Amino acid sequence: MTTQKITDAAPPRKRLFVTLMGITCLMVVAVIFLAWWIPNRGLANIHPNLPHIVGIIMMVLSGAAILGTGLLVLTTALGKDIFFTRFMRLVVIKFLLPVIEMVGRLIGLNKDSIRQSFIAMNNSLVISQRMKIKPDRILVLLPHCIQLSDCEIKVTGDINKCSGCGRCSIKGLVEIGRKYHIDISVATGGTLARKVIVEKRPKLVLAVACERDLTAGIKDCYPLPVIGILNERPFGPCFNTLVDAAKIDEALSQVILLDEPATTPV
Ligand code: SF4
Repeated sequence: MTTQKITDAAPPRKRLFVTLMGITCLMVVAVIFLAWWIPNRGLANIHPNLPHIVGIIMMVLSGAAILGTGLLVLTTALGKDIFFTRFMRLVVIKFLLPVIEMVGRLIGLNKDSIRQSFIAMNNSLVISQRMKIKPDRILVLLPHCIQLSDCEIKVTGDINKCSGCGRCSIKGLVEIGRKYHIDISVATGGTLARKVIVEKRPKLVLAVACERDLTAGIKDCYPLPVIGILNERPFGPCFNTLVDAAKIDEALSQVILLDEPATTPV
């Protein structure tokens, strides 16, 4: 019999993403400077004031890169929506992540470490928006490998079919679903996950998956906010994976709007 064992995963490392962002910002500023400096002499031949005008434009661009990085760090550090958090999520997801993945690869960092940091940064930005969403507009998406492989009950269509034997993480998740009256779906792949999202039209998704799938899901779903919770894989990828229900409970408690206090199932 497989017994459920949750190990303490290393806490997501936002700091790594912030460090990579800093390095990327410095590189961008250096490129901007070189883009101004190299043709500078040639510009003067076109018009004597042109080097100054282009210089000012380059300074504004550099300032925007530095200010943006600072704002992002401050937002995640304080957990508050200071300015343009939604826009910053767009910048991080669509533009910064590919550049940061490239910088990370150049300095020999592991892909999953970068993705863990990205997921932690994304979660901070979503939570800092301090949204309060009704339970029926929040969707919890689970990968099918979270169910014990030799369980005879198939919970893919309806998680509430689980008999609650406690041999896998599904039991705790059913309890959370009942506590918050929330919709929990098990998806057998990215295509089905997208279909569930289209059908249920949630305002926020809380997804459990590995680093790769969460990163892809967060990117694909934008502008829909996604909170990513990493699964644990003591038996290798995609097989009898686990998730700490307390992490889901904690994340939900920060975004859910409850008319009445959540009920703990008996
Ligand atoms: S907790 Fe539910 S889904 Fe998991 S093994 Fe037991 S009955 Fe099956």
